[in-house]
Amino acid sequence: MSNETADKPEHKDFIREIIDADLASGKHAGTVTRFPPEPNGYLHIGHAKAICLSFGIAQEYGGRCNLRFDDTNPSKEEQEYVDSIQEDIRWLGFDWGDDLFFASDYFDTLYGYAVHLIKEGKAFVDDQTFAEMKATRGNLQEPGTNSPFRDRSVEENLELFEKMKAGEFEDGAKVLRAKIDMAHVNMNMRDPVLYRILRAHHHRTGDKWCIYPMYDFTHGQSDALEHVTHSLCTLEFENHRPLYDWFIENLPVPATPRQIEFARLNVTYTVMSKRKLLQLVEENYVSGWNDPRMPTISGMRRRGYPAEALRNFCKTIGITKFNSKHDVALLENAVRDVMNRESERRMAVLDPIKVTITNYDEAQVEMFECINNPEDESAGTREVPFCRELYIDSDDFMEDAPKKFFRLSFGREVRLRGAYWLKCNEILKNDAGEVIELLCTYDPETRGGANPTDGRKVKATIHWVSARHAFEPAEVRLYDRLFSHDNPDTKKRNFLDHINEESFTVLTNAKLEPSLAEWKPGDSVQFERVGYFCADDMDFEEGKPVFNRTVGLRDSWAKVKSR
Ligand code: ATP
Ligand code: MG
Repeated sequence: MSNETADKPEHKDFIREIIDADLASGKHAGTVTRFPPEPNGYLHIGHAKAICLSFGIAQEYGGRCNLRFDDTNPSKEEQEYVDSIQEDIRWLGFDWGDDLFFASDYFDTLYGYAVHLIKEGKAFVDDQTFAEMKATRGNLQEPGTNSPFRDRSVEENLELFEKMKAGEFEDGAKVLRAKIDMAHVNMNMRDPVLYRILRAHHHRTGDKWCIYPMYDFTHGQSDALEHVTHSLCTLEFENHRPLYDWFIENLPVPATPRQIEFARLNVTYTVMSKRKLLQLVEENYVSGWNDPRMPTISGMRRRGYPAEALRNFCKTIGITKFNSKHDVALLENAVRDVMNRESERRMAVLDPIKVTITNYDEAQVEMFECINNPEDESAGTREVPFCRELYIDSDDFMEDAPKKFFRLSFGREVRLRGAYWLKCNEILKNDAGEVIELLCTYDPETRGGANPTDGRKVKATIHWVSARHAFEPAEVRLYDRLFSHDNPDTKKRNFLDHINEESFTVLTNAKLEPSLAEWKPGDSVQFERVGYFCADDMDFEEGKPVFNRTVGLRDSWAKVKSR
C-alpha cells in the first residue's frame, strides 16, 4: 500500500489546495495549524486522521502545528488524558516542539473579550434557566424570541458579569449570552451562551474560576491568539463557522484564522465516540483504554500496530468533505504491509502436539539455518535447533483425514519447514481418547527440506519447534475485532449487544522457538503460517515475553457476513 501511494502522481486534497492558494496570493507567509483535543479520553484512530492532517501540513509546508488542549469543561478532564494524548501524538511520529498550549491559559483574556462585547452592547447577562432558553430558541422553521433580559444596560451587564465571576450567584442562575439575532437561520447565531456559572475544580486553574467559557467562545479566539492560519476541524462544526467568524470580527483578536471542515473518520466493526469508549472501559468490557481491541491509538500500539501503518492508512483514505465509513480491513492491510516488511519470522506452535521421531538419534541435535525475513536480506539468518522430540500445531494434524487434508495424518508425510520430511506411524492417546503424542520417522535424505530421489511428493510444509529447546510454556493472547457487527453503533442498535465474545483468547501452553525469549516489549514478529504478533509492553518479564496477536496473515473476516 505504501508503495502504491508513493507511485501515484501527487494528488492534493482540497485543504492543501486552499493553503497553496493562500501562500501563492500572499495572504499568509507560512502555515500554522493546531490539533485541539479535549482531555476527556484517550485518542482514537479518528483523531489519528486529524493529527496526520494538521501535523502533516506543518511538516510538508515547513510550518508549525500547536498542540492545544481544549480544556473548557472542568468536570470531565484529567491529567491522565493530557499525558496519554501527548504520548500518543509523539508515538505517531509528530512533534509540537515548544508549542504546547491549554485553552485554560486564555481564561483571563477570554474574560476580557467578554467584557469587550458587553461594552460594545453585544453581550448580556440572562437570568433565564437553561430550560427557558431552550424553549425560546425556536427551531429550524420558526425564529426564537428575545430574552426579557436582553435589553439590560451596559452598566448593569458589566456589574452582573463581574458578580458572576465573584461567585455571588449559584450555579446555573445566570449566563452571559452574545446578542446576535434570535431569528437567524443558523441556530448557533441565536444569542449563544458565552459563559456559565459552574463551581468545578479545573485541572489547571484549580478553584480560581466559578464561571467557564463555552467551547464556541473559546475555540476560535484561542486559534487567533496562537496566530493559527488554518483551523482544521470535522464537519459537525460547519454550522458553527458563522459564529466562529462573528467572534473573530467582533473582538480585538490579533489574527484572522480560517476554519475549514473535513469528514470524520468512521471505521467498520468499531465505535469511535469517546463517551462509548469510556463506557467500555468503565463497565469492564475491556481491560482499559489501551486494551489491544480498542480503536484507541494506545490500544493499537499495544496490539502491535506500527505507527507507520496508521499514517499510511490515513494517507490512503485521504481528506474529503463527505462522511463515510471505511472498512477496517483496509487498516488491517496497512498493518500487514508494514509488518510483512519489518518483522522477523519465527516458528511458534500455539496449540501443541508432541512428536517423537523414533529413528532419530536421541543424543543428536542439529542446527538448521533459517532466513529471518525474506523481505529484508539485512535481517540475516539464525540457527534453529532440531532434535528427536518436537511440537507441531494441532491444526496441522488430523487423525481421520479426508483426502484433501494435506498436512500430517496417520501413514502420511509432510515437510517440516527447513528440516526433514516426516511420516506419522503411530498415534498415542490418553484414557480420554485424546491424542497426546505422535510417533513418527524422518527421512535423512530430505535434509533441509530437499526432495528425495525416489520421486515421492509432499503437498504441505508445516512449522515445528524443538521440544528440548522451546521457550515454553509461553503465553499468547489472541485478539480479534471487538464487535461482531460491521456497524455496531446506530440509532436502532446498541453497540453493547454486539460485542464479539471471541475477541480475546489466552493460550498458556504455546511452544516457541528459543530466540523468542529475547523479545523486548513492543518488538514484533511473524509467527510463520500463523500471523503477526508483538511482545506485550505492560505484562513483561525479562526472558518471558507475552505475545499479542496483532493481525492474522490474511483477513479471516472477508467471508463472514455480519449477523
Ligand atoms: P468524540 O466525538 O469521540 O468525543 P471529539 O471530536 O469530541 O471526539 P476532540 O478531543 O474534541 O474529540 O477532538 C480533537 C480533534 O480531533 C477535533 O479537531 C476533532 O474534529 C478531531 N476528531 C475527533 N474525532 C475524529 C474523527 N473520527 N475523525 C477525524 N477527526 C476527528
Ligand atoms: Mg470535541
